Amino acid sequence: MSDKTTQKSALVVSAHSADFVWRAGGAIALHGERGYQMHIVCLSFGERGESAKLWRKGEMTEEKVKAVRREEATAAAEILGATIEFFDLGDYPLRCDKETLFRLADVYRRVQPHFVLTHSLQDPYNYDHPQATHLAQEARIIAQAEGYRPGEKIVGAPPVYCFEPHQPEQCNWKPDVLLDITAVWQKKYRAIQCMQGQEHLWEYYTRVALQRGVQAQRNIGITADKKITHGEDYQSIFPRVTEDLS
Ligand SMILES: [Zn+2]
Repeated sequence: MSDKTTQKSALVVSAHSADFVWRAGGAIALHGERGYQMHIVCLSFGERGESAKLWRKGEMTEEKVKAVRREEATAAAEILGATIEFFDLGDYPLRCDKETLFRLADVYRRVQPHFVLTHSLQDPYNYDHPQATHLAQEARIIAQAEGYRPGEKIVGAPPVYCFEPHQPEQCNWKPDVLLDITAVWQKKYRAIQCMQGQEHLWEYYTRVALQRGVQAQRNIGITADKKITHGEDYQSIFPRVTEDLS
């Protein structure tokens, strides 16, 4: 582990407790293995909207569902090599006040992320996901402001990457980053298997990873030495600043 002052870090803002696993588990594992401090904020447990299998068991309460979801997400984060915290804001609907924005801004200040992962800007199937994106972006901007808690170290301008929504064609999804997660796919799949309440998605997200892997390979050339089998795709919000276009 590298020194705290030089260690790189990243922040993942997830609307519900499993979203980060399906959509960004590869990126989290990959950077975790490279020594990044990966920190996840789950704004809610997805207790109402994304825990259908648990509710169907009967004799469930919201508290019980939340406890299971917390356990699953904590286990997944551990496999991926990340720390995790839960804001417990409730879902369907996910709403937040000023205090929550400040709470998230304080996480930015503490983590000092080198990049941020969150949801897509649009998702007509799920209002909580874009809500999480707006919250992540607004808190980032507050954390950049010199006038917010003056004297504290402000955050720089970490790039924000949106992760793939569940039904991308309906979300105006146009990825501009394909991430090779071949080396960590097994780790991601182990994290996926922590999500016992959403077993119907395991196979689905395996197919997504394979599909994105094929596309990643095509975009570096099918004859390239590097062989990519699994991928994740992202859409960046801000332009990437570089001195090298190759
Ligand atoms: Zn979700």
